[in-house]
Amino acid sequence: MENTNEMELIFDSRSSNESFARVAVAAFMTSLNPTLEEVSDVKTSVSEAVTNAVIHGYEGEVHNIHIRCRIEGGSLYIEIEDKGKGIEDVQAAMEPLFTTKPDMDRSGMGFSFMEAFMDELEVVSRPGEGTIVKMKKIIGKGRKLWTTQSL
Ligand code: ATP
Ligand code: MG
Repeated sequence: MENTNEMELIFDSRSSNESFARVAVAAFMTSLNPTLEEVSDVKTSVSEAVTNAVIHGYEGEVHNIHIRCRIEGGSLYIEIEDKGKGIEDVQAAMEPLFTTKPDMDRSGMGFSFMEAFMDELEVVSRPGEGTIVKMKKIIGKGRKLWTTQSL
């Protein structure tokens, strides 16, 4: 199929790798000609998911985080996976303000930001096995709208 592309990253769950991860995904998506706002939405979402893997998934221990990205047509698909402790109740965890670490300055807004900034968000998790955050962002929606409006 035309305009498909894939990449995969595996890196240590160190907080210093959060900026590496978001910059790598931002670089990967440039072929879609995203706006600064679209890039910023993706970077924020990747940051939140990677931070969650570091802090909650592995609780500070250093293990692998996997990121898989796929471009298909005008859409960017991202999966961020840890093989850490997993989430007991995914639905509850995704509620705004829900956090299991209120003591650590967490506001419980990570999933809410991902939901707001991306077009689709799905969280697959099993206690003791790990977590996969699947996100989709359609790039260029604004562009089409603008063209239509300017006619
Ligand atoms: P904030 O993101 O605002 O700093 P937070 O990380 O607690 O706070 P969310 O990112 O919305 O908030 O995550 C909600 C809860 O889901 C977390 O407190 C944690 O219990 C659980 N969680 C999220 N990601 C993972 C993960 N990768 N592994 C295990 N638990 C997770
Ligand atoms: Mg978080």
